[in-house]
Amino acid sequence: KKKKLSLVDENRIMVFVRVRPIAKKEAGSRCCVRIVNHCEVYLTEFAAQDDYLRLKRVRGRHFTFDACFSDSATQQEVYSTSTSELVESVLQGKNGTVFCYGATGAGKTYTMLGTVESPGVMVLAIKDLFSKIRTRSCDGNHVVHLSYLEVYNETVRDLISPGRPLVLREDKQGIVAAGLTQYRAYSTDEVMALLQQGNRNRTTEPTRANETSSRSHAVLQVMVEYRVRDAAMNIVHRVGKLSLIDLAGSERALATDQRTLRSLEGANINRSLLALSSCINALVEGKKHIPYRNSKLTQLLKDSLGGTCNTVMIANISPSNLSFGETQNTLHWADRAK
Ligand code: ADP
Ligand code: MG
Repeated sequence: KKKKLSLVDENRIMVFVRVRPIAKKEAGSRCCVRIVNHCEVYLTEFAAQDDYLRLKRVRGRHFTFDACFSDSATQQEVYSTSTSELVESVLQGKNGTVFCYGATGAGKTYTMLGTVESPGVMVLAIKDLFSKIRTRSCDGNHVVHLSYLEVYNETVRDLISPGRPLVLREDKQGIVAAGLTQYRAYSTDEVMALLQQGNRNRTTEPTRANETSSRSHAVLQVMVEYRVRDAAMNIVHRVGKLSLIDLAGSERALATDQRTLRSLEGANINRSLLALSSCINALVEGKKHIPYRNSKLTQLLKDSLGGTCNTVMIANISPSNLSFGETQNTLHWADRAK
């Protein structure tokens, strides 16, 4: 029944949807999303009935994606279906990007980072990477480095060794954040702790103490370097890079795509999130010019989005009708990325 999914040689954006379980604070609300055939989401709109405070179904709409994960999908299922192929291609020197999109509270951080008991895509990808490297014959050849940064208010900060904002510079290898920690990783065990600490270093908004900011993007980049012999038997160095991104909450970027970035400046709108949308739309439409330069996030992803890179998007949604508007917007956004 499940479609065979493949990224190889396709160079298109793979789009997935993940529905999180209903939360305690949503108790008593109605579920407005249903997954059909593993790849369709049926979204139901409810309206209050005149005389009662009862809800009745008024409209519904189908959205189709590469695969949809229900609230019972495991972290491993989400990883295997969405990201494992990218890990394989990074080992062959190809770049790739996975990002989670959705409103605050929709499950992005759970999907990307997860918990110690249920590690998410970031941790499972690194685990899988190490196990794939171990089983290759050319053992000892691959070197893995990690960097973990945030983009907050168009400022780039190191999440591994927090300090001053970092400047983006273009050199012959592409865009680099000057001074960013490149952490040499040897095993999976150390990585979860490192990422959790990094996540605690994310900027929090003053009004939401204890909560990581809904406006900060966390970017984990995994660089795999290795040596191979070319046709003339010379040793050449190759690098594959996987970018795994826990995006800022999409709720503030709603209904603003049609306006230009410039008119939004100062309007408390997340420039990097909008710029990412523009780049993705340009890629999907097959445009020649991709506007990477419009934000810090898209500059950082210049060598990892489009071209021969693999791109995966996971749209996170709540099942509750209390989040109907945000869910609808997320599904529309994801639908356009196909
Ligand atoms: P976001 O990062 O999008 O703001 P979170 O990942 O922090 O949202 O998720 C909000 C809450 O829901 C958290 O308490 C998280 O643990 C929980 N949650 C999200 N997705 C799942 C899931 N698939 N299974 C169990 N709990 C989840
Ligand atoms: Mg989060």
